[in-house]
Amino acid sequence: MSTQDFESAKQRVFDLRTLLDQYSYEYYVKDAPSVADAEYDKLYHELAALEEKFPNLVSSDSPTQRIGGTILPGFEKVIHEAPMLSLGNAFDESDLIDFDRRIKKLTDKPFSYICELKIDGLAVSLKYEDGKLVRAATRGDGTVGENVTQNIRTVKSVPLRLKKPYSIEVRGECYMPKASFIKLNQEREENGEAIFANPRNAAAGGLRNLDPKETAKRNLNTFLYTIGDFGEMTAVSQEDALRQLDELGIRTNHDRRVFQTIEEVWAYTQEFQEKRTDLPYEIDGIVIKVNEFEVQEEVGFTVKAPRWAIAYKFPAEEAHTVIRDIEWSV
Ligand code: NAD
Repeated sequence: MSTQDFESAKQRVFDLRTLLDQYSYEYYVKDAPSVADAEYDKLYHELAALEEKFPNLVSSDSPTQRIGGTILPGFEKVIHEAPMLSLGNAFDESDLIDFDRRIKKLTDKPFSYICELKIDGLAVSLKYEDGKLVRAATRGDGTVGENVTQNIRTVKSVPLRLKKPYSIEVRGECYMPKASFIKLNQEREENGEAIFANPRNAAAGGLRNLDPKETAKRNLNTFLYTIGDFGEMTAVSQEDALRQLDELGIRTNHDRRVFQTIEEVWAYTQEFQEKRTDLPYEIDGIVIKVNEFEVQEEVGFTVKAPRWAIAYKFPAEEAHTVIRDIEWSV
């Protein structure tokens, strides 16, 4: 490798970090992205590839080493006892085949995959004590989130009391249904207010509003998909855990499916790529998880994400929507 290669990589890494930091700020803090997710993802992967090629250029403040956003002032901070992680990404079938190979190198045990819709909202944590909702928080930067308990209480599908007096922490996605998003933007346009680029940003702005009455107007909803603290619960697999969440009265997404092979997983991603426009909420991909908890434990985590899960992201259809919506707003 020549010095010139290294110097030009260093400059490009610097430029990419500056750009990605700006985009993250607009997306996570302002809830108003200026570029489509696919564009962000492309630059992010260029940065990750350069850092892999030139490990000396990796630094702890790089966007590749961080999770999510910043905490808004005005909200009480909540420390997540178990960090709320991100997910690695896959963009095509060969990425999924590589994922399958990596897992099979890490375990000899037989296992299955569970596929879930990747709901395009923001991650939240709900804490129950003796069956009562005591706290809700955003993911924030993964370690520290915002206390949004009063806001989550306005989401009608979130049970304030579980069907069993368990002390558990459940995590999932808070989102805005497409119909509510269209209605909200129509109203905002009529009132001469800035419109939201997409339902995800409208949901984030609604949930992270200091006035819970404003949150209530957004008609937000949730799908819960993971357990942060099992409390009295025991489960052997993701499928088992989700079924038990259903029994507690917690809303989960029922389009999940279990498969034995990565080829079947790929077919499922393609099926929902077709169906996504018919769903009443936005999805931006499919999350694929090793189903059996024993195998998940063996496969483990990186600092940023579980090794036993990956998010397959749909191709850039949404890019057009976002760009069109932004143009439409000017
Ligand atoms: P991610 O969106 O790639 O995936 C992780 C998240 O998926 C989880 O945190 C969870 O919130 C969500 N999720 C939804 N359904 C799930 C399910 N069934 N099981 C598990 N998780 C589920 O990662 P991220 O860290 O939340 O966000 C990074 C992404 O945000 C980028 O890839 C990019 O697309 C977007 N982004 C866009 C901009 C922009 O300017 N357009 C800026 C920053 C980030």
